[in-house]
Amino acid sequence: MYSKKNQDPLPKEEIEVWECESEACIGWMRKNFSYEVNQKCPLCGHTMKAGKRLLEKSSNPHKR
Ligand SMILES: [Zn+2]
Repeated sequence: MYSKKNQDPLPKEEIEVWECESEACIGWMRKNFSYEVNQKCPLCGHTMKAGKRLLEKSSNPHKR
């Protein structure tokens, strides 16, 4: 029995996002960039709901 543990996945971070409520739409955005309570999807104009996504930590230009 072998393990796949020697793969080296990129570190991921769970961040808070807005997700489009439309199932047909893939629109979403980081909550960091928006402080509005009722967010509208930039792609379709649908309302958005709070959610979470796993995003890769690397290549973040806004690193402190
Ligand atoms: Zn949308």
